[in-house]
Amino acid sequence: APPPEAPAKMSPMMEQYHEIKAANPGLLLFYRMGDFYELFFEDAEIASRALGITLTKRGKHLGADIPMCGVPVERSDDYLHRLIALGHRVAVCEQTEDPAAARARKSVVRRDVVRLITPGTLTEDTLLDARANNYLLAIARARGSAGADRIGLAWIDISTGEFCVTECSTAELAATLARINPNEAIVPDALYSDTELAPTLRELAAVTPLTRDVFDSATAERRLCDYFAVATMDGLAALSRLEATAAAACVTYVDRTQLGKRPPLSPPAREATGSTMAIDPATRANLELTRTLAGERRGSLLDAIDCTVTAAGSRLLAQRLAAPLTDAATIARRLDAVEAFAVDSGLREQIRSSLRAAPDMARALARLSLGRGGPRDLANLRDGIRAADEVLVQLAQLASPPQEIASAMAALQRPSRELCAELGRALADDLPLLKRDGGFVREGYEPALDETRKLRDASRLVVASMQARYADDTGIKALKIRHNNVLGYFVEVSAQHGEKLMAPPLNATFIHRQTLAGQVRFTTAELGEIEAKIANAGDRALGLELEIFDRLAGSIDAAGDDLRAAAHAFALLDVATALAKLASDDNYVRPEVDESLAFAIEGGRHPVVEQALKRAGEPFIANACDLSPGPAQKNGQIWLLTGPNMAGKSTFLRQNALIALLAQVGSFVPAIRARIGIVDRLFSRVGAADDLARGRSTFMVEMVETAAILNQASERALVILDEIGRGTATFDGLSIAWAAIEHLHEQNRCRSLFATHYHELTALSAKLPRLFNATVRVKEWRGEVVFLHEVLPGSADRSYGIQVAKLAGLPPSVVSRAKAVLAKLEANDRGQPKTLIDDLPLFAITARAPAEAAPPSEAEQLIDAVKALHPDEMTPREALDALYALKAKL
Ligand code: ADP
Repeated sequence: APPPEAPAKMSPMMEQYHEIKAANPGLLLFYRMGDFYELFFEDAEIASRALGITLTKRGKHLGADIPMCGVPVERSDDYLHRLIALGHRVAVCEQTEDPAAARARKSVVRRDVVRLITPGTLTEDTLLDARANNYLLAIARARGSAGADRIGLAWIDISTGEFCVTECSTAELAATLARINPNEAIVPDALYSDTELAPTLRELAAVTPLTRDVFDSATAERRLCDYFAVATMDGLAALSRLEATAAAACVTYVDRTQLGKRPPLSPPAREATGSTMAIDPATRANLELTRTLAGERRGSLLDAIDCTVTAAGSRLLAQRLAAPLTDAATIARRLDAVEAFAVDSGLREQIRSSLRAAPDMARALARLSLGRGGPRDLANLRDGIRAADEVLVQLAQLASPPQEIASAMAALQRPSRELCAELGRALADDLPLLKRDGGFVREGYEPALDETRKLRDASRLVVASMQARYADDTGIKALKIRHNNVLGYFVEVSAQHGEKLMAPPLNATFIHRQTLAGQVRFTTAELGEIEAKIANAGDRALGLELEIFDRLAGSIDAAGDDLRAAAHAFALLDVATALAKLASDDNYVRPEVDESLAFAIEGGRHPVVEQALKRAGEPFIANACDLSPGPAQKNGQIWLLTGPNMAGKSTFLRQNALIALLAQVGSFVPAIRARIGIVDRLFSRVGAADDLARGRSTFMVEMVETAAILNQASERALVILDEIGRGTATFDGLSIAWAAIEHLHEQNRCRSLFATHYHELTALSAKLPRLFNATVRVKEWRGEVVFLHEVLPGSADRSYGIQVAKLAGLPPSVVSRAKAVLAKLEANDRGQPKTLIDDLPLFAITARAPAEAAPPSEAEQLIDAVKALHPDEMTPREALDALYALKAKL
């Protein structure tokens, strides 16, 4: 029998590893080993799969191989980025002492976790998307009676200092999360496993469950006060208990992940409930606001309207687009700013070119405050303040700047010009990326530094003269003195001359160190001395530079509030000028937005489709839409749009939704004229057949979403329904569409657009006074269908399905056969009584099915249902269900 395995014993390094790993549950541990970060065990398996790097082994643990993979420290940012993007969280563990010290102690090198990197707490440019906010969101819940739970939300972007809170109901949670679009959400354990909320949370990119104490409402206020170093939060923000709980969870998590370093945050700004247009996730996806249905930014509304020139401007525009306002006065203020720049293109372009040079101050500031900044971040703020002066001079051209611009001007005055001048004097022209590389302080700024640098450079000159002397002494002209990190300074000669230096008498001076393929390397005592001198001077110079860096970073940190205000003003001006440029390039007009229920658009266009057609050199056909109420209103508040496939129905529906949305964002709109009464909720649904991209059980999804609209839309809502009911059998679909329209007309009474290919529905306008039939015109020309994309009153006479199929390239034999079948079907249809809509319009439609003149009575329906039962094939449970179903029919 084989000898029993020796009792496995953990190596001291593995002991240390396990200790650190245990202290950081749920994180991948990047364990520093020389020039690599190494991952072990399950971490190694996860990372190697996620990163596509080789999984190997390092030693044994308790008798088994230890799976291992590693990434070079130099390129670790790239790997981190990919892991974070996949929703992983990483603990970075560094060596915290010189390995030599550990060797002297005869033990493992001390290591410590210096940083936790999670998707919601990033600050590095290399890890962040410049044009998107990076939000960490905390969700807290207070249980209410009978399902009336309240949710408190707080979200921060530590890379810019933004901090917001709000409250909502559980029903509103999905829409709110879709608007904020956090990169990471932290939730209490209990909420994470809650069956009601779990599906909503699963939609988020990364969810981190945390223990209850992080969400403890009793200590929330104290934790916030501690973070902001104030005695009470009253002066900073008025928060509800639930909001304070979520906000405190955010700062506690920041403390944990930044290991006590505190990025500066603005005091929590409270977002009043209802201050933004509610848009649920399905509507956002369907209208392709920030991403297309295929998940790309290209082709989205944001991409089409984003003419900003700075990353901060792009972030602000994305924020605004995600959260259109519901307050007419605030919208008007934003529109005023756009208008100021819409008229004066000269001023607009001047400002845009100054802004282009203004760097991302908010993020540079956050990095400096966290001790992760570099020399270029300092230069960033210097250039930012300079740009502020430039922009202020340009804005002085405005005789009476509107309020939003005036407040931006005030903010641009705030940063200290003295600080800017100081940075200007201190910083060199060419800056290294890292402060530890040195050389970023300008000559002449600090006499002591200049002195040390001179010493260092003088020694370098000495080295140069030594090289000349050694070449003379040895008679080897090609002798060189070189430097590397292993040998320091050394003498290098070619292999053929090596022998000479290794033989007497020269070997008394030249000490052999290394023989390579082509060269031989030596040191000398003299070189060793000069080496030490140079290193000392270099160290001293770097030390002085780092002191200067810290001093400057300190002054910047102290001026943080002013600099952040200026950064925000830049973003605001960028958005206003960008929207003005868009308006003038694409012929947008200022919308009238008020408290009415009006919806009157003349010459409306689809912002994205229009641009695409323009690139292809084709015109977009503008169309009017009027959903305003009132007795004089002939057109009605619900438009029922019919027309063949490809006619432009979906485009028309969406363009009207997008115009309302843009107007409430505070943008000009693609139309000749637009008047919009505030929309408080926007709904957009697409029939199942169009919705395959989302890959769900489509008809069910469609019905769930339609139910949500019919249950939730109030008078102020705007509802867009495209081909609802298409995902099921014809009569089912028609009946559902029919009933939905009646419900919208009678119950919701909201402004709605309804596209359908069920022509039967147009008959409803005889009964529903606020229903208006419109159709997209097409023309037949030599048997081909020509799409005119014009929306006119009336209804489509036929669907041209076969012509469209022909355009799509169906084989001619199939097309002609289909025509024959259609002719036959239509002939059969003739002579049937036209649909009666007066009494029982809904089921009168089914009367088109042969033979049955009248719908079955209740008794007949019951008898049919009983006949359809097969007791032998039923389980007791099914039988019971059937009984209930029968009872329900009574
Ligand atoms: P439908 O929903 O009726 O099937 P779509 O709205 O998808 O039709 O439009 C089909 C195509 O017609 C679009 O891709 C677009 O290129 C073009 N189109 C739609 N509306 C217009 C318009 N108003 N002007 C010009 N082209 C349009």
